[in-house]
Amino acid sequence: MKKMKTLNIPTEKKWYRCSGCGQKLLIYNDTAECHGVYIRCKYCHKTEEIKIQKH
Ligand SMILES: [Zn+2]
Repeated sequence: MKKMKTLNIPTEKKWYRCSGCGQKLLIYNDTAECHGVYIRCKYCHKTEEIKIQKH
């Protein structure tokens, strides 16, 4: 089997969930990297930092 080159092609989309109430806040894919961005949960009103690290 031929090995494919590693490219930054998103292969999977995931929900980012609120750590307070578990509600879905946003969607990211597996090439995403994020820190220092905040979102306010509209369900429990917790301000959540979006921390996403590439795997
Ligand atoms: Zn919440």
